[in-house]
Amino acid sequence: MKKLLILGAGTGGTILANTLSRKLDLKQWDVTVIDKAVEHLYQPGFIFLPFRLYGYENKSDVAHPVKHHLPGNVNVVNADIRLIDHAGKKVETSVGVYPYDWLILALGCHVAPEEVEGLEESMGKNAFTFYTLEGSLALQKALEKMEKGKLALNIAEMPIKCPVAPIEFIFLADYYFNKKGIRDKIEIEFVTPLAGAFTKPQASRALGEIARSKNIKITPNFDIQGVDHEKKVINAFNGDSVEYDILASVPPNLGPEVIDESGLGDGAGYALTDEKTLKHKNADNIYVLGDNTNVPTSKAGSVAHFEAEIVEENILREIDGKEPIAEFDGHSNCFIESGFHKALLIDFNYDTEPLPGTFPLPKVGPFSLLKESRLNHWGKMGFKQIYWNLLLSGHLPGDPLLPSHMSFTGKDISSLVPE
Ligand SMILES: Cc1cc2nc3c(=O)[nH]c(=O)nc-3n(C[C@H](O)[C@H](O)[C@H](O)COP(=O)(O)OP(=O)(O)OC[C@H]3O[C@@H](n4cnc5c(N)ncnc54)[C@H](O)[C@@H]3O)c2cc1C
Repeated sequence: MKKLLILGAGTGGTILANTLSRKLDLKQWDVTVIDKAVEHLYQPGFIFLPFRLYGYENKSDVAHPVKHHLPGNVNVVNADIRLIDHAGKKVETSVGVYPYDWLILALGCHVAPEEVEGLEESMGKNAFTFYTLEGSLALQKALEKMEKGKLALNIAEMPIKCPVAPIEFIFLADYYFNKKGIRDKIEIEFVTPLAGAFTKPQASRALGEIARSKNIKITPNFDIQGVDHEKKVINAFNGDSVEYDILASVPPNLGPEVIDESGLGDGAGYALTDEKTLKHKNADNIYVLGDNTNVPTSKAGSVAHFEAEIVEENILREIDGKEPIAEFDGHSNCFIESGFHKALLIDFNYDTEPLPGTFPLPKVGPFSLLKESRLNHWGKMGFKQIYWNLLLSGHLPGDPLLPSHMSFTGKDISSLVPE
């Protein structure tokens, strides 16, 4: 038997376990998925949990058993992955050693508050992170008690997964305090190392304008040096500081240590990945997708989904003795909640920044690009069921309305002005 090993049963690993187990002849191939978690978390729900919004209140609203979404004909191993021996083509785990012919790396990334002085000690006191399930539930309790003062959100450094999640959080905070009737007693400040609200100029401008209309202060170019939870202040390397009562923190994001320790990473835990083929740059028979790549696009579930199509095609070609030819273009697609039952949608790739227009069809949409609409919000709300029922099972890849390559259909190219 030949062996396909998939490391990680999150978004990317689960899609590929489903699609590849349907495409490979399982009389000749043994497919094994290894993950240390027993629950698969719907991470986009973490931005709603702190505010108890739209039916997101508890863990049960975002967690499903990992096994529910994996096919019955693959082996599922619950174990901590400790070393990837790419020369020996085997993986060492807490429960044994697994040899492979082909390996897929889909281990995601995680927050590392210990990377910022004073941040870890502040966590749970007056600083919280909604980038973990536990953090968003702790923040829910803290916000319930908040009646006045300042809520500051800080992004420690880039890259982070879902780079729009912080701005969504801050827009939802504005909505939440408005609903409670105490918005005038709460200051909201968005403190970021970026020059504006987002990484890409047009989207940054659009989101910045919405923030201003909501009376949210944006403090750009803030390189955090440390947190002092007793003085309730975050300090920057250049001497600037921002006071807070509650700090919603997005700590530095790092890739899995095992990637660096196995000689496959860039020093921050991200695997050295060919940005077009998604094959590992230095190791044979390894493909990479999702948050643990070092490709220059967003770390998002949509990206893992688009990448899964490319990895599936290239790995099947290689198994057939052909060259990998499928090329990833960096396609990313994300709804951005803006509060009051509205959201924006952005769609972009390595070369094209988010543009205005309609999606996926010209004129009729139904979704609006780079513009708030109620339909976008309902798109975001409906996406959870699509994720659990279609995306993870690998029934969305190949959908002509959501292709892995970015389409210019419906996009207003004339808005592309030189910066
Ligand atoms: C607050 C927030 C909001 C978000 N909102 C959106 C959104 O609106 N739209 C969007 O597209 N994306 C969003 N995302 C991002 C999205 O959730 C991720 O990009 C996506 O889940 C990445 O998939 P992945 O397979 O790369 O990693 P993951 O889904 O994180 O899976 C990685 C898996 O690897 C396992 N693992 C890691 N290390 C080891 C080890 N050593 N041993 C064993 N197992 C291990 C983990 O347990 C995990 O199950 C959001 C993320 C956050 C945090």
